[in-house]
Amino acid sequence: MSEQHAAASGSRPAVVWFRDDLRVADNPALTAAAGSRMPVVCVYVLDDESPGVRAPGGASRWWLHHSLTALSAALDALGGSLTIRRGPAERVIGDLLAETDAAAVFWNRRYGEAERTVDEAIKTQARDDGREASSFGANLLFEPWTIRTGSGTPFSVYTPFWRACLASPEPRKPLDAPGSIAGAPPLDSLTVTDLGLLPTHPDWSAGLQETWEPGEDAAHEALARFLDEDVAAYKADRDTPGIDATSRLSPRLRWGELSPHQVWHATAAARTRTNAEGAATFLSELGWREFAYHTLFQRPALATENIRSEFDAFPWPRLHPTALRAWQQGRTGIPLVDAGMRELWHTGTMHNRVRMVVASFLIKNLLIDWRLGEQWFWDTLVDADPASNPFNWQWVAGSGADAAPYFRVFNPELQREKFDKHGDYVRRWVPEWQTDAYPEPIVDLAETRRAALAAYDVVKGR
Ligand code: FAD
Repeated sequence: MSEQHAAASGSRPAVVWFRDDLRVADNPALTAAAGSRMPVVCVYVLDDESPGVRAPGGASRWWLHHSLTALSAALDALGGSLTIRRGPAERVIGDLLAETDAAAVFWNRRYGEAERTVDEAIKTQARDDGREASSFGANLLFEPWTIRTGSGTPFSVYTPFWRACLASPEPRKPLDAPGSIAGAPPLDSLTVTDLGLLPTHPDWSAGLQETWEPGEDAAHEALARFLDEDVAAYKADRDTPGIDATSRLSPRLRWGELSPHQVWHATAAARTRTNAEGAATFLSELGWREFAYHTLFQRPALATENIRSEFDAFPWPRLHPTALRAWQQGRTGIPLVDAGMRELWHTGTMHNRVRMVVASFLIKNLLIDWRLGEQWFWDTLVDADPASNPFNWQWVAGSGADAAPYFRVFNPELQREKFDKHGDYVRRWVPEWQTDAYPEPIVDLAETRRAALAAYDVVKGR
C-alpha cells in the first residue's frame, strides 16, 4: 500500500511482525491487530544480517520454508496475506512502517539479547514516529523476569525453578484464531521460494520430507495424537529411543506452530482421562524448555561462553578433524553414537537420550569442544533452538549452571545395553552393525574416559 493510499483511505494499518510464532491461533500479536479494526499487514522478515542474531541452519531453513508456506495459506484463508521481506529487521520493519504509514506494530517477544536489542530499537523509533508499538508474551509460559528466588534473583537450578513456576499463577488460556482479518491492499513481497531456504545442490531434504509435515494444522494433529496415544506411557518409555514414545513437538514449539500455552492446557485437560504421572512428567519437560529460555535471558552468550567460567581453563587438545567428521557422519564405530548421528542427518531430529550420549561422546571421549557439537546440531536439527541447544550442550559438558557433573562420563555401550536392549534403534540406523562392514571404534572408551578426567582436573584446580 502506498502512503497516498493509506492516507486517502484513512485506514492506517496495524503491522503484525511474525518471528518465532508461525501460527494464527494463540497469537496475541495477531489477535490484537485483528481486534483493532485496522487493516492488518502481516510480515515475516528473513534476517540473516542483524549483528548477533543467529541465522537459522540448513535443516531449520527447510522447516521454515514449509512452515511459512502453511502460515501464508492460513492468513489468506482468514482474509489477510503474508508479506515476506529479507534483510536487517530494524531497517526492513522501519521501512515497512513508513511505507504503509502504519498506526501500530505488534509482535510476540523474543528472549535473546541481540533480538531484544533489535526489537527495542524498532519500538523506540516507532513510538517516536507516533505509532503504537506493543509486544506480547506468547512463546513462554512464564516470562523470565517473573520467576525469582526468595531473594529476588533468577534461579540457577532447575528443580526449585520448576517448583516456583508451578506455584505461580497458571499460564493463561490459549486464544482462538481470529475469525477473520481485515486485509490491507497487497504490498511488494518476496515469495517463500524467493528466500532460497530449501537445499538445492545437492537436495538433501528427502529424509526430512519423509519424516515431517510442518505447519500449524499438522502441529495440532501431532499434539492430539500424542495426548491420545502416548502420554500415558510417557514416563515409562520416554528414554527408549526404539519406541516412538515422545511427542516430537520440539520443532513445532521452536517455530511457534504451537504455543506452550496450547500444549500446557491440552495436556492439563488430558490429565483427567489419562495417566496423570505421564502428563506431569511431560509438562516438566516443557519446564526444561522454559528453564533454557530463562537461562538465555540471563546469560545471552549461552552458545559461545561457558556459564561456569572455570571451564575456560579446559585444555581442549588440538582439534582432530577426522574424529569430528567421523562423529558428524555417524562412523565412529560406537553403535549408539552412529545411530544417533545418522538419525539426525536423515530426519533432522534425534531422540533426547541419544542426544545426551552423542554429546557426551564428542566432549568426553573425543575431547572436542562442546561448541563445535552445538554448531553441528544448529545446522542439522529442525528444532535447533537458540536457548535449548546451547543450554543442553552446556548441561552435558558440565559447564552449565545446573548441569551433569563433568566427571559423570556416559558409557555409550552401557547406555545402549540399558536403553536399546534389543538393538531396535541401532539396527534401524546402522544396518551393518554386527557385520564385518562395521568399523572398529575410533577411540578406546576406557582410555579416553581417563584422559577426559585428567583434563577435567585442570578445571577442578581453578
Ligand atoms: P518430548 O520428550 O516430547 O518433550 C516435550 C517438549 O519439551 C519438547 O518438544 C521440548 O520442547 C521440551 N524439552 C524436552 N526436553 C528438553 C530439554 N532437555 N531441554 C529443553 N527443552 C526440552 N531441544 C530443542 O527443542 N532444540 C534443541 O536445539 C535441542 N538441542 C539439544 C541438544 C542436546 C545436546 C540435548 C541433550 C538436548 C537438546 N534438546 C533440544 C532437548 C531435547 O532433546 C529435545 O527437546 C527433545 O528430544 C525433542 O523431542 P520431543 O519433542 O519428542 O520431546
